[in-house]
Amino acid sequence: MPSHAKAVIIGGGVVGCSILFHLAKFGWKDVVLLERDELTSGSSWHAAGQIHTISSDPNISRLQSYTIDLYKEIEELSGHSVGLHITGGFYLASNKTWYDYLKRERSKARYMGLNQEFISPKEVAERHPLIDPKHYHAALWDDQDGDLDPSGATYAFAKAAKVHGAQYFTHTPVTGTTQRPDGSWDVVTPRGVINAEHIVNCGGLWAREVGHMQGVNLPVQPMEHHYLITDKIDAVANHPTRLPAGIDYEANIYFRQERQGMLLGTYEPKGTPWKVDGTPWDFGHELLQPDLDRIADRLEMSFERIPAIGEAGIKDMINGPFTFGPDGNPMIGPVPGMKNYWCAVGVMAGFCQGGGVGLTMAEWMIDGEPSIDVWAMDVARFGDFATPDWGTVKSTENYERRFVMTFPNETLPKGRMQKTTALYDRLVAKGARMGQGFGLENALWFADGPEDAHEEPTFERNRSHDYVAREVKAVREAVGGIEVANFAKHEFKGTGARAYLDRVLAGYVPKPGRLTLTPMLTPKGKLYGDLTVACLGEDHFMLFGSGSMQEAHRRWFEKDLPADVTYQNVSDDWHGIALSGPKSRELLQRITREDVSGEAFKFRDLRQAFAGGVPVILNRISFSGELGYEIYCKPQYLLRLAEAIEEAGADLGYRWYGARALMSMRLEKGWGVWTLDFRPDFDAVESGMDVFINWKKDFAGKEAALAAKEAGPGRKLVTMTINVDGIDVSGDEAILKDGKAVGYISSGGYAHHAQASMAMGYVAAEHAAAGTGLQVEILGEMYDAEVLGAPVYDASGANMRA
Ligand SMILES: Cc1cc2nc3c(=O)[nH]c(=O)nc-3n(C[C@H](O)[C@H](O)[C@H](O)COP(=O)(O)OP(=O)(O)OC[C@H]3O[C@@H](n4cnc5c(N)ncnc54)[C@H](O)[C@@H]3O)c2cc1C
Repeated sequence: MPSHAKAVIIGGGVVGCSILFHLAKFGWKDVVLLERDELTSGSSWHAAGQIHTISSDPNISRLQSYTIDLYKEIEELSGHSVGLHITGGFYLASNKTWYDYLKRERSKARYMGLNQEFISPKEVAERHPLIDPKHYHAALWDDQDGDLDPSGATYAFAKAAKVHGAQYFTHTPVTGTTQRPDGSWDVVTPRGVINAEHIVNCGGLWAREVGHMQGVNLPVQPMEHHYLITDKIDAVANHPTRLPAGIDYEANIYFRQERQGMLLGTYEPKGTPWKVDGTPWDFGHELLQPDLDRIADRLEMSFERIPAIGEAGIKDMINGPFTFGPDGNPMIGPVPGMKNYWCAVGVMAGFCQGGGVGLTMAEWMIDGEPSIDVWAMDVARFGDFATPDWGTVKSTENYERRFVMTFPNETLPKGRMQKTTALYDRLVAKGARMGQGFGLENALWFADGPEDAHEEPTFERNRSHDYVAREVKAVREAVGGIEVANFAKHEFKGTGARAYLDRVLAGYVPKPGRLTLTPMLTPKGKLYGDLTVACLGEDHFMLFGSGSMQEAHRRWFEKDLPADVTYQNVSDDWHGIALSGPKSRELLQRITREDVSGEAFKFRDLRQAFAGGVPVILNRISFSGELGYEIYCKPQYLLRLAEAIEEAGADLGYRWYGARALMSMRLEKGWGVWTLDFRPDFDAVESGMDVFINWKKDFAGKEAALAAKEAGPGRKLVTMTINVDGIDVSGDEAILKDGKAVGYISSGGYAHHAQASMAMGYVAAEHAAAGTGLQVEILGEMYDAEVLGAPVYDASGANMRA
């Protein structure tokens, strides 16, 4: 065993082996994988081995497609069979709702270039004679789906990595990880210590325990999971070709051919977390006691739909644990708050996703950033709210919902009230329907009271529609207030703070008392932030940005912070309320002694002052497009501030509003939102964020941004109106021109003041001109859309600057 390595990977399941392979393939030869037992000794050996491309996140789908394509390469390189069968597969819709869901998937596939098409129930039965077609409306067929041998695939990754120069050692448990002052790691094993620049936690079932060696809490949870294998079925044995794989969402089953029989698995409605207090180190190639009762209902339904399975004997019943994360997606990347500590854990579909996870991790470790936006897998999307208990609750919920649809207007019930502000009870009593973001409850919209605050999950315009219209009207005509605790706040102090921010931010850094908007770019010129910068003093700045990105931004800022700058993520230290509307100035003036007249307190001014009798930071800025103010205060003052606002606003038509109204109003201004319209998939020119760049200075990503500017954008972010009734886009729909996909929807909804269905999306640059007629596919129907040249509300910005 070597004493030094560039990187040590802990864990020889499919994920660790794939990362080892990709690091070595891309040039890091000095990499080592350590496995406590034999390779595949966690969940990898007993997987069902089914592979498919569908995922709720388009970039994860892309990586799943990459993963499946990779198997041939590693098989050839390693000489080790992966037992791959690309049979094609279908997703079966047995009711209208699932058919609608699949139409959305089909729409995504159009612009992602995936080969998916609808087939009729009759065609389903032709391709898979065991299926009774009468239960189905249609099926979405994907050419790329199939199955493989999980053990073979894991070994093929490891052996292919060896061909590229990497090493792996089995029966070498890592018992400790300690960091040296230079940031490198001593990885301790009974066979000696390896000093490594980077370590990667790929502990799978033991991810939590490996994390604990370094005080890292990963909110993942192993879950028990069953599948069965039947005896020989003649219709399978005699079929001329291998039968396709399939998923039936309503029955909650997946199935595929296994030798001359069938394999069928299901996610039961009540999940069973396994070893909540920790995975024992002596757990090895063992299985758990099957419990047929837990899956009896599901089996009954599946026997109706695939009768031959019900008639065949059960040869084998597998109950094995595998690890889930709180939202079902993997947790990968550099762990915030740590140096050179990486993880790739909670990968619950390792054989669909392992290749893509390996690719992404290798790009991230070697190049400093992945080539596509992997926010949906980034470990930084969870913060300290994601405690072990919360992780178990949410991971269990996610297991249970593996094949259960989540609608665009749906908020999931488990793990709620993890973080609340002082206004929670007050707003709920007023009828707030709450959502959760980065663990924190925030109001989505306001009903007429707590009993009225409900809605049914739907793809169509939902019950909140008229209530949101009421909130928008209040803001556009009078004054409304929304909580802003869920915005991130990052504080920088020190003599070097201005110079540091000038370097990491592409835009202007303001003078004391002023605010600016700026993009932040990666070295490759991709968007990595869309931030409001407040200068509280020559050496004191506060940045406001996406709440969900706060840990990712912390990781970014802490990476190369100079000695003369101190930084803190102070998001939880500053709560507050944003006032918006033509009467917001009058309201604010009633609760502060400051002169907030238009002459004394201009657009993009800020003050440290008192309002509502409490100390505040007052920012004159608004995301609704109206005259507006963000009032930030310490959490202990929030209730007092809210009371003062309600009291002062009573005769001005003051109304609380929620995130849905805000999202509607910003559409009317054509303003993008982080994680939807602005993401590292795009550069500043494509997204239009280049208008905020200060090209006269040096800044991170300038070279790449300039090159992109000179080359001209291949695609552009546009705002559109859509000619549609009763339904709006919810994201990821295809945009078409003359029947050909030319882009996709990044966000949208109903613009209540303009009374129009609107959307934002990226389209090929030649279709981005104002007035261009396009089509948008919503639930399988094509609707006409028109690219706008200016915001539909207050195009000159006069109201906001009033
Ligand atoms: C019943 C069942 C059916 C499944 N079906 C499918 C399917 O059809 N398709 C699909 O894509 N996925 C499926 N999965 C999920 C799949 O098995 C997992 O996603 C995958 O195995 C995760 O791989 P991993 O490498 O992250 O973790 P693991 O396989 O758990 O590997 C972790 C490895 O790390 C090692 N390790 C841990 N701690 C240490 C240490 N301190 N030192 C050294 N080594 C250590 C362990 O020994 C282990 O080998 C299924 C899982 C189960 C249980």
